[in-house]
Amino acid sequence: MLNYPDTINKLIESFSRLPGVGRKTAERFIFHVLKWPKDEVEKFSSNIKQLLAHNFLCPNCFNFSEHEGLCSVCSSPNRDTATLCVVEEFHDVQVLEATGAYHGLYHVLGGRIDPPEGITPDKLRVRELLERVKKNNAHEIILALNPDIQGEGTVIYLKNILRPLNVKVTLLARGLPMGGDIEYADEVTLTNALRGRQEIK
Ligand SMILES: [Zn+2]
Repeated sequence: MLNYPDTINKLIESFSRLPGVGRKTAERFIFHVLKWPKDEVEKFSSNIKQLLAHNFLCPNCFNFSEHEGLCSVCSSPNRDTATLCVVEEFHDVQVLEATGAYHGLYHVLGGRIDPPEGITPDKLRVRELLERVKKNNAHEIILALNPDIQGEGTVIYLKNILRPLNVKVTLLARGLPMGGDIEYADEVTLTNALRGRQEIK
């Protein structure tokens, strides 16, 4: 291993935590940053700090919120509060919002059930979902989970647990490629998947 000064080693460690970034790429990033003008580097560092200072969870749907309190979706008066779209991560909210085709509220589960990875239903926001379905008197729950094995397993689990609540449960239409994450679907595909959603019994 190359013998870098401590400041560089620490940064390599930080960058290597990013998905898909190994040690070599982290080194490349850092040497790139070192060539930036000083004010660019300062802006970068301040943006990261700002993220820490403005990183709140919406107490309603667990979407990312820039301030304390409800997120921009939950605080909008124009949303249909009786429709909840269940997604894995808050990033999926941004992707679905970009379609402009959805006018209900969201519920960010915080992942999907994956027992080998230690993710059991109690680690996700399932209890909160059930409470919201009752509180909002929800008519429809759209399960917008990623179409892979863990996503499908989570759909089956949620469908069963929602059944006693007598709420319509729908799934996004199968325009989405199997194994393809929602975050990589284009807006047209996603809008069609939303419009063509089907009830699961
Ligand atoms: Zn919210």
